[in-house]
Amino acid sequence: MRIFVTGGAGYVGSHCVRELCGAGHDVMVFDNLTSGGHREAVDDRATLVVGDLANAELVQGTLSEDHFDAVMHFAAMLNVNESVSEPLRYYHNNVSNTVSLLQSMKACGVEKIVFSSTCATYGEPPVAPLTEDLPQEPITPYGRSKLAVEWVLRDSAAAWGLGATALRYFNASGAAADGSLGEDRDPEYHLIPLILQVPLGQRDHIKIFGTDYPTPDGTCVRDYIHVEDLAVVHRLAIESQAPGEFRFYNVGTGHGASVREVIDAARKVTGHDIPAIEAPRREGDPAELYADPSKIMRELAWQPAYPNIMPIVETAWNWHKAHPQGYASVGR
Ligand code: UDP
Repeated sequence: MRIFVTGGAGYVGSHCVRELCGAGHDVMVFDNLTSGGHREAVDDRATLVVGDLANAELVQGTLSEDHFDAVMHFAAMLNVNESVSEPLRYYHNNVSNTVSLLQSMKACGVEKIVFSSTCATYGEPPVAPLTEDLPQEPITPYGRSKLAVEWVLRDSAAAWGLGATALRYFNASGAAADGSLGEDRDPEYHLIPLILQVPLGQRDHIKIFGTDYPTPDGTCVRDYIHVEDLAVVHRLAIESQAPGEFRFYNVGTGHGASVREVIDAARKVTGHDIPAIEAPRREGDPAELYADPSKIMRELAWQPAYPNIMPIVETAWNWHKAHPQGYASVGR
């Protein structure tokens, strides 16, 4: 397939582009190289167009130059806290730009899309694991912007035959097994890369946000899903996408790891004692979020290759150790 990948220079996008190229797909990456996008992360087999989705003319012009079979849409803003203080930026980038992308797709006859959604669309669900039939009640502008797009996709599938899959990710983490692609954003705000900054000598300690949650060790439990597992899921989703169909899946391993467990895994992997300081809860953090992935396992015949936290942290450490300054360390 010829596939147009927005945000293909970013963390999840770049791993996915590599997976698609490896499977013989023909990929064009469209990325503005901000918000975590890096030219060095784009697979050599793909072509890169540097541009912003807000530039509808450029998007439509690029899509119309060639026949594309499908779009994978990663480009988005994803800092939950920032979305609370700057909701208009989030709705503009995540919702308006997606509507405009879909208009261009419709005009150019591109009728399949896989969309990066999030478990944040469920808000603070009272139960775990999370199944897809739980009500979607997001509690932040970020989560609401992703849910709004899911509705746009659903309505487009019904109205003009768009085939769309929304992948509701849990915590994307880890790095390419060969250590050549990984996480690099500034500022960093995700747990695993922040923990690994301690053994890198870039921070003194890690803060544990909340130790009084109703979980076995009092810290928040999340479902860490390896970025290469996510990449495979995207490929399977686009390869099996039928026109006019809207599908939605939770994408996680089905197991949770607590903040303390993740820190312990990092201590074992790095051999560093990684001092941890107990801090107050971070606002809006649900105690426990992990997926029931049985729907995607059944329908896409998928199994995670990394079901446990240790190897996930190991791949992240391989990347960060070799690239302490992220892609600035690469020079490729
Ligand atoms: N967390 C933490 N200390 C940090 C960063 C994160 O204790 O410095 C916790 C956070 O409260 C959450 C978990 O680690 O329970 C994962 O946070 P992250 O921001 O990586 O992902 P989220 O689940 O919020 O999308």
